[in-house]
Amino acid sequence: MNVPFVDLKTQYANLRDDMMPAIDSVCAGSRFILGDDVKQFEHDFAAYLGVKHAIGVASGTDALHLALRALDIGEGAEVITAANTFIATAGAIWQAGARPVFVDCEPESYNMDPAALKKAITGKTRAVIPVHLYGQTANMTAILAIAREAGIRVIEDACQAHGAYHGNARAGSMGDIGCFSFYPGKNLGAYGDGGAVVANDPELAAKIRVLRDHGQTEKYRHMVKGFNSRLDGIQAAVLGVKLPHLDIWNAKRAEHAAAYSEALAKIGGIVVPKVVDYGVNVRGKLSHVFHLYVVRVPKRDRVKEALAAAGVQTGIHYPIPIHLQSSFAELGYGKGGFPLTEKYADEALSLPMFPELSREQVAHVCRSLAGAMKA
Ligand SMILES: *Cc1c(COP(=O)(O)O)cnc(C)c1O
Repeated sequence: MNVPFVDLKTQYANLRDDMMPAIDSVCAGSRFILGDDVKQFEHDFAAYLGVKHAIGVASGTDALHLALRALDIGEGAEVITAANTFIATAGAIWQAGARPVFVDCEPESYNMDPAALKKAITGKTRAVIPVHLYGQTANMTAILAIAREAGIRVIEDACQAHGAYHGNARAGSMGDIGCFSFYPGKNLGAYGDGGAVVANDPELAAKIRVLRDHGQTEKYRHMVKGFNSRLDGIQAAVLGVKLPHLDIWNAKRAEHAAAYSEALAKIGGIVVPKVVDYGVNVRGKLSHVFHLYVVRVPKRDRVKEALAAAGVQTGIHYPIPIHLQSSFAELGYGKGGFPLTEKYADEALSLPMFPELSREQVAHVCRSLAGAMKA
């Protein structure tokens, strides 16, 4: 049996009857850039999250970059984020001209450690970007309180956590600005690149609308210098077809995660993901939407190879922490800077995770992993 890491083909086959007319309508109306499909999706996505404004942009990275620009955070500013994240979080800070400052993660959620955040704040800190890694919301209660006290902005990187809750609030809706990616493999994925910035403040939302479209308030009237970072009509139509399924898909991911964890608990030596309760979790509202199901195992690379030999495709998120990447060597971090992040980079292994996983596939992964651990 072969188990892919993600399977977007099965999802497409299930959606095809709704998807083709939606795409056809955009093409027939030639609403390719922005337009009514984008407006409709922005409206629906904002309503889904419980925020006042959503602005479609070209990617999750752009969402983070434009969020910083809208807050006038750039040259001379420090922005704190997690060392344990995808490179794009730091890349966006650099794009805005600010300096990324990293902090280590918590041992159970793998998310930003609020105590470390507090220690990292300096007179130059203007914002913190907590990342809801793997689909689990960070400790936003603590992070928001620390940020408020320090007078710094909060930009949520919700690129892996579409639909996740912290208490009664959805990921992305709690900070000053929330950022989403619609990269195809994300929990809500387009058929190409896409992203969204969400906010409750109408002024911030208006600024982002201008920034994403060459800084124009009306055609050929450029009040500020902007960027070309718009969501395509076709991508908006695709996302509009998918959005009504998101909560069901997330529930399925959580079910697969529970099945994995139950089976893997019987095998020694595997650390399974933990759903952390910060005292705010609400029954029926998922605080972890399992964008990724990440276990920790000793001799990870050998286990990964053994799984591949058994037809099980896995991933590593992430093998080299950002502070050890040569592209960010200029920041002066070295090995030992963030011990937990570094340890997890050596041990983390992402098992196949997508809503359409079958029971048989989950069982095959667990059986294969048991075999790999013994070998
Ligand atoms: C995917 C992702 C991004 C970037 O999104 P793109 O749409 O690929 O630019 C940023 N941060 C995190 C945590 C991500 O997983």
